[in-house]
Amino acid sequence: MKTIGLLGGMSWESTSTYYHQLNKGVKQQLGGLHSAKIALISVDFSEIETLQHAGDWKAMAVILADAASKVERAGADFLLICTNTMHKVAPEIESAISIPLLHLADATGQRLHATGIQRVGLLGTRFTMEQDFYKQRLVDNFGFDVLVPESMERELVHEVIYEELCQGKITESSRKRYLEVIQNLGNRGAKAVILGCTEIALLVQQQHTDLPLFDTTTIHCEEAVRLALAGQ
Ligand code: GLU
Repeated sequence: MKTIGLLGGMSWESTSTYYHQLNKGVKQQLGGLHSAKIALISVDFSEIETLQHAGDWKAMAVILADAASKVERAGADFLLICTNTMHKVAPEIESAISIPLLHLADATGQRLHATGIQRVGLLGTRFTMEQDFYKQRLVDNFGFDVLVPESMERELVHEVIYEELCQGKITESSRKRYLEVIQNLGNRGAKAVILGCTEIALLVQQQHTDLPLFDTTTIHCEEAVRLALAGQ
């Protein structure tokens, strides 16, 4: 079994989902007392969030490149960055390590592509929904037509991520508002919605809507387990 490297803590609420799903996935495949081999470095999200909102991506690239090389030195065979947003600095992280990066947008794109869906909605932080590093990769690599919520809705989705989900607060009122945003994406022609933030599935799950949801955390973990066990 290969060792899965995790760059986590962004936030720890979703990193704990990664830890759980990776172990569960390996146990499902191998049974008994089997569990995932994991090397994790978890950062202080408050430092990262301050730099995000100050727009200092260079400083974050330095912190995360350093953390990633620690994950590699701890014995990881490949790396997962456990946040969609911080894939903005994926190129800098990749150039600091010699193990492969399992890119979250690619893992998600492949899964969606296999369904034949073309027009897809994207939820995430404002950075993920408004900048090109993630959206454009989905367009360039898979040819999707990517829809994001309207401006006021993007604000809401972003605020709920930082003020609630990353702090472990799950409320019925935010779930209702997210479901309205999802419904509006469906009304605009989205045939599926990417939960492009690793905490969103803590709030909204498939049982809440008829529109197919693609949860990036689950897809990332399933793909990591497949890679870790390939050839077993
Ligand atoms: N975990 C989130 C994501 O997937 C948001 C937190 C962050 O900004 O890293 O984008």
